[in-house]
Amino acid sequence: MASIIRALRPLSRTPSVRLAGKRLVGRPVQSAYAFSTTPRRREVDLSELTPTPITLLSETESLMADSVSKFALEQIGPKVREMDEAETMDEKVVEQLFEQGLMGIEVPEEFGGAGMNFTAAIVAIEELARVDPSVSVMVDVHNTLVNTAIMKYGDAQAQRTWLPKLTTGTVGSFCLSEPASGSDAFALQCKAEKTADGYKINGSKMWITNSMEAGIFIVFANIDPSKGYKGITAFIVEKDTPGFSIAKKEKKLGIRASSTCVLNFDDCVIPKSNLLGEEGQGYKYAISVLNEGRIGIAAQMTGLALGAWENAARYVWNDRRQFGDLIGNFQGMQHQIAQAYTEIAAARALVYNAARKKEAGQDFVQDAAMAKLYASQVAGRVSSSAVEWMGGMGFVREGIAEKMFRDSKIGAIYEGTSNIQLQTIAKLLQKQYTN
Ligand SMILES: Cc1cc2nc3c(=O)[nH]c(=O)nc-3n(C[C@H](O)[C@H](O)[C@H](O)COP(=O)(O)OP(=O)(O)OC[C@H]3O[C@@H](n4cnc5c(N)ncnc54)[C@H](O)[C@@H]3O)c2cc1C
Repeated sequence: MASIIRALRPLSRTPSVRLAGKRLVGRPVQSAYAFSTTPRRREVDLSELTPTPITLLSETESLMADSVSKFALEQIGPKVREMDEAETMDEKVVEQLFEQGLMGIEVPEEFGGAGMNFTAAIVAIEELARVDPSVSVMVDVHNTLVNTAIMKYGDAQAQRTWLPKLTTGTVGSFCLSEPASGSDAFALQCKAEKTADGYKINGSKMWITNSMEAGIFIVFANIDPSKGYKGITAFIVEKDTPGFSIAKKEKKLGIRASSTCVLNFDDCVIPKSNLLGEEGQGYKYAISVLNEGRIGIAAQMTGLALGAWENAARYVWNDRRQFGDLIGNFQGMQHQIAQAYTEIAAARALVYNAARKKEAGQDFVQDAAMAKLYASQVAGRVSSSAVEWMGGMGFVREGIAEKMFRDSKIGAIYEGTSNIQLQTIAKLLQKQYTN
C-alpha cells in the first residue's frame, strides 16, 4: 500500500487538483462512471517534496471525489427520502455501489478491486454521506473494516476466496458487539469450539451494520475464555451457514436505511479455512481495523455536516425571504453559517491528516480518535443549526435537514463512543506528558 501514496502525492501538485469540499452541487452533472482506475505509479523520493496542504487531493482522489459526488446526487439522491421512510436499503443502490467499484476501493486489482489508496476510500465515504449517510456507512463498513481485515490478516488462500466476492457482489459485515459487550468490546461472550474439521460458534451479536444485505460476516468469538481477551479469534461466516440467523432488525432514530440487526449463532459450524488469521489474535485485529475504521466514520460525519450545511445555505441564500430580504443576508444568520463552515473545514483537516498519517505508516491512533470525536460533534452541531436556519422547512420530512440531524447522532456512538475516543486521546496524551 505504501507505494500507492508515493505515486499519488506528487500528482497532487498538478493544476488539475481541487480543494476538497469545493461546492459541487449545481455544476453540470455528467453521467456516473466506474472507478476502476489504476493509480499511476512513479518512483519518487519523498524527502525532496515540499509538503502540501492536507486537504489538497491527488488527481486520482479528486476523480474519486467528483465521480462519487455525481453518482450520489444522480443515483442515490432521488431515493434518500424513500429509503429512510421504508427503513430499507434499495437493492439497486447496493448493486450500483458494486458496479461503480465502490465496494473494493483499496482491494488490489487482482482480486477485482480498484487498487486505490485509503484517502480515496475516505473521500468516497465523505461524498456519499453528503447525500446519504446510510449508504455511506454501508460502503464504510464494507471497505474499512471487512475488506481491510481480510487484506491485512487473511492468508493468500483467504484473500483469493473472499476478496473477489466482496468486490463484485457480496456485502460484508463486521460483528464484534454483543448484548453485554459494547464499549467493553473484548468482554464478548460469543464462543468458538474446535471441531475435527473446523469450528462451532455459539452466541449472539448485536447492532451489526449491513447484516440484512450481507453475505459475509467477520465474527469475533472466544476460543479459550480462560485466556480472557487473548482467546478472541476472528472467523468468517457465510450467510447460508446452518446455525446462523438474523434474529431482529432494529428500528432506529437515524441512518434508517442502513440495516442494524441482532445475529444468532447456534452450533454454527464453519470449516477450518474460515479462520481469519491466527487463533487468539482477534482482539489485535479488531483494535487495528477499528482504528482505521474510525477515520471512515469521521469522514462520514464530515460529509454529513457539509450536506446539511449546503442544503440550508442554498435555502437561506436563494429561497426564503423575510422582512423584505433573503434570510441569509441577515448578519445574525451569516455569522452562524460562517462558524459552521469553519468547523466543517477543521473536521475535514483532522480526517485527512489522520488518513495521510495512516498511509505514511505513522502512528495515527490519536489522530483517528480526535477526527472521529470532533467530526461527530461538528455533524451534530451543524445539522442541528441547519434545521433552525430553515425554520419550519427544516423540521418537516420533505427535505433532508431533519434526516441529517437524526443521522448525525450515530457518529457519537458507533466504532467507539465519544467517551471512548476521549479516553484514547487522554491515555496517549498522558503517556506523552508523564515524567
Ligand atoms: C446503528 C449502529 C450500528 C452499529 N454497527 C456495528 C457493527 O457493524 N459492528 C459492531 O460490532 N458493532 C456495531 N455497533 C455497536 C457500537 O459499536 C456500540 O453501540 C458502541 O460501541 C457502544 O456500545 P453500547 O451501545 O453497548 O454502549 P455502552 O458501552 O453501554 O455505553 C453507554 C454509555 O456509557 C459510556 N461508557 C461506557 N464505558 C465507559 C467508560 N469506561 N468511561 C466513560 N464512559 C463510558 C459510553 O460512552 C456511552 O455514553 C453499532 C451500533 C449502532 C447503534
